[in-house]
Formats: sequence, structure tokens, C-alpha cells
Amino acid sequence: MTIDLDTGKLVVFIVGLVLFLFIEALAPARRWREGRLKRLGFHAGIAIFNIFTVRLLAYVPMLLWLVYADEQGWGLARWLGLYGWAEIIISLIVLDAFDYFWHRANHRVKFLWRFHKAHHSDTEMDVSTALRFHPGELLISALVKASWVMIWGPTAVAWFLFEALVSFCAQFHHSNIDFPDKVEQWLSAVIVTPRYHAAHHAVDRQFGDRNFSTIFSIWDRIFHSYAQPADGGRTTRGEAAIGLPEDRHLAFSTRAWISDPFKRRNLNLKDSSTSDAP
Ligand SMILES: [Zn+2]
Repeated sequence: MTIDLDTGKLVVFIVGLVLFLFIEALAPARRWREGRLKRLGFHAGIAIFNIFTVRLLAYVPMLLWLVYADEQGWGLARWLGLYGWAEIIISLIVLDAFDYFWHRANHRVKFLWRFHKAHHSDTEMDVSTALRFHPGELLISALVKASWVMIWGPTAVAWFLFEALVSFCAQFHHSNIDFPDKVEQWLSAVIVTPRYHAAHHAVDRQFGDRNFSTIFSIWDRIFHSYAQPADGGRTTRGEAAIGLPEDRHLAFSTRAWISDPFKRRNLNLKDSSTSDAP
């Protein structure tokens, strides 16, 4: 059962990747400065590395953990007696809320930012950015997610649906596409759109230190971290519109990118920790 669910998650991932690659090629919101192939190649390399390391290290233990938590009857979902579709829908909402706080912590806690900044050092944003995560961040997040399983106790179906949805939504909101203002307005009132998330990647930290939500945008509004994109995210505001200007050397250098979190001189932390620490 769980193996089938994981295959389903992989299918969602591949379909999402191909779909958004296609759409952003047809109607890109911003003009690419780097070659698309170069970007895709670098980010695909990261993804393949992550599949063979993080997945092997974290996937089986997580499966066993889900089964164990189920046997023990752990978690609020069980305590509340949730089952069927109600359990799946409420679990998606609750896990998305956990994800919001986890993402926010990745920007606020200096140790976590060391790793998360590998994602933000991208100089542009397209669907391939959704592949750009440091293996260290993924491993730490696997441990944190194990605690969510213990606290909330989702069923395996709800868990894999959540993981598949996070992967699809991340591909969607990183992609280089945009909607007309009216559509954007109602869409971003419910879910995180590419324009909404482009603000999170903005060089201008007034925006970059906001918009942490992953699936539903409501969390930023509830917890006061919402910033309306200044220019609609459609235009590049010069060379430095997206990313971390002081970390341009990390953009496409495998060696610098992978080793950066372990450097003692890992500064540039002020970006994430001074603006409005909660
Ligand atoms: Zn972030």
C-alpha cells in the first residue's frame, strides 16, 4: 500500500515537472538570463543526488515510523477520532500549517538558514528551482517531519497525499509563469501562486522575509508574514531582483554550493534574522 502511494507521489512529481516546464516555455513571466538547459542540468544533478542520498537515508525509516506511530495510536488525529476523508483533509491543512512554521524557522534560525540559503541562492526562479534543496536541509527536515507524524498521527494515505501536494505546489509556485491580475487576486487568496512566492525570493528582504506558506496562503495572513508583491513579480527589477546578491558565487558551482553551509564564515545571516524576528 505505502509503496503504491510512493509510486503515485513520484508520478505526480514527474507530471508536475513536465507540465510546468512546458507552460513556462510557452508563456514565461520573466526573461531568462541564464540558459534554461544549464539551470535544468544543475538542478537536476542536485535532485538526482538527493534521491540517492536523502531518499535512501530517510525514506525507509519514515515508512517504518508511520507504521509504528499507527500501531502505537499516536497523534491528535487519532485522539480526535478522525477517519476517512475528514482525516485526509484536516491532516492536509494541519501539516501545511506545520510546514509554514518550519519554513519560517528555516529563515529565522541561523543554523537552519545555512542550509536553506542554498535554495535561495538561485539567481532566477523557474520550475527547476523547486529541485534546488541542499541535502542537509532535506535530512534535517526529515527528522522534523518525523516529529509531526508523532504529534499529529496522519494515516499513510494522508501523509503521502500531503507530500505529493507539497511537491506539486512547490513546482507550481516556483515556475516562471504568471496570471492576469484578477485571476491572481482570487487564486492567491487561497493558494500560493508563482507571483506570491516570487516575492519570497526577492532580493529586497522587505518581501523576501515574508510569504512563507507552501500550499494555502492563509498562514501568512493569520501570522502576519504576508507581503503583497511590489511589482507583481512579473518583471525583473534589474540583475539583482531574485536571490541573494552576496551569494552569487553559489549559484552554479557544485563545490561552493554543497560546502557552503559547513563554512565557519557563513555570514549573510543578517538578511534572515534581523528584519522582524518574531
Ligand atoms: Zn524560503
